[in-house]
Amino acid sequence: MQAGHPEGSPEALKAGMKKHGIGPTLMSQILRLSEFHTYPAPGVLIGAFMVDWAQELLGVSPDRKLYAVCETPKCLPDALQVMARCTTGNNRLRVVPIGKFAITLNAPTDNDTADAVRVFVDLEKLKKFPTIDIWYANSPAYDKHAMKMRLQDEIFRAGRDILSYEKVRVLVTKKKKWKSVTCPCCGETVPDYLLEGNRCGACGSMRYYERI
Ligand SMILES: [Zn+2]
Repeated sequence: MQAGHPEGSPEALKAGMKKHGIGPTLMSQILRLSEFHTYPAPGVLIGAFMVDWAQELLGVSPDRKLYAVCETPKCLPDALQVMARCTTGNNRLRVVPIGKFAITLNAPTDNDTADAVRVFVDLEKLKKFPTIDIWYANSPAYDKHAMKMRLQDEIFRAGRDILSYEKVRVLVTKKKKWKSVTCPCCGETVPDYLLEGNRCGACGSMRYYERI
């Protein structure tokens, strides 16, 4: 904790990054990311290093259109949305709830598969960073209130040192042709390929509300 900056403030975050020599570009991305996420969660901070490295490994310019898969819905999707501009809305981000802190990133291709890079938190490497290690394992030994700043400091000190990567091949999902169909239960329309039998998802397995 740097003197004079309230814990969790952008100034404190900046000071923490400066201390570990994080460059100005990544620093400004981390600030934007933490604002987008509403706070500098450990997962988004680690995610920033993951996306930064994956982009570098792909060797593409930052403005290039990319496709991403994120293996957890927690924190990490936001790093891809802010830094790689792969969003759920532009359909270039697929979140697969596997429960691993890992991402794959690839450039667009006309082929059925794409060569991608997968960056993941490497458990072996975590051993050198005890606070991240117990936080990542969701261990009761991790005390959020007492260790929050130590964790953040360790994440900035570690940077890419807790990560590894591999080259992988991913299936490319092509845009589907579809037509609009009316659900007989609710009378609202959905794309035909989203029907469950003859009903829409909201009248089926994805029902999430009842009228009041
Ligand atoms: Zn319906």
